[in-house]
Amino acid sequence: MAASDSPLRLLGLIGGTSWESTTHYYQLLNRLARERLGGKHSARLLLWSVDFAPIAALQEEGRWDALTDIMIDAATRLENAGAEGLLICANTMHSMADDIAAAIGVPLIHIADVTATALKLRDVRRPVLLATRFTMEQPFYRERLMRHGIEPIMPGEADRRELHRIIFEELVQGQFLPASRDKLADVVNRLRGDGADGVILGCTEFGMLAPPGTFDLPAVDTAEAHAEAAMEFALGGRR
Ligand code: GLU
Repeated sequence: MAASDSPLRLLGLIGGTSWESTTHYYQLLNRLARERLGGKHSARLLLWSVDFAPIAALQEEGRWDALTDIMIDAATRLENAGAEGLLICANTMHSMADDIAAAIGVPLIHIADVTATALKLRDVRRPVLLATRFTMEQPFYRERLMRHGIEPIMPGEADRRELHRIIFEELVQGQFLPASRDKLADVVNRLRGDGADGVILGCTEFGMLAPPGTFDLPAVDTAEAHAEAAMEFALGGRR
């Protein structure tokens, strides 16, 4: 069987933000290929993985134009190397998704679109959005969800600060602490009273800290929803 005999399209991943969640994507995609095709099948992937420290510094400085250039460069390299569809393995870095999609000639599978689909499958319309400050506070993510009829509920200022701290001081540095998992559950419980009917684990490391079953409400791990949609794309609609 030649490589070209694989039924799978080649996926390009922009990873490293952080590599902790990129390993989660790598495992999810390969497991899905095995589940869908059986036996010795595995995902056909190209990975462009960045050093997260300078990326995080640019995020913190609000230099989104510089980040857009870096992301377009990565996407173009993956496309030129043969990727047939692209994934950005993070929610925050979808801030510039429209610019990236416009710069390439292959589909960019948008994490918020596939998250909205997964939420609707679970009958969720008003999920709590747990994410970085950038994803919770900038309009790009909320507006994209609202296009699909999803109305995300944002945690309050102090909770947003704490969630952001957990991501940058712990998760991207490989620390997954029970106290932080409890903190996520606590934020969700408090927002139930405001009519929340679900949860978006809107940071690709969150599902590794607090898998969907952690919560009393239906929850979507954005990394999982993204990997599942990408595998559907890779299979090209095959059943
Ligand atoms: N992986 C994260 C996300 O899904 C956070 C890291 C970042 O700021 O890029 O947003």
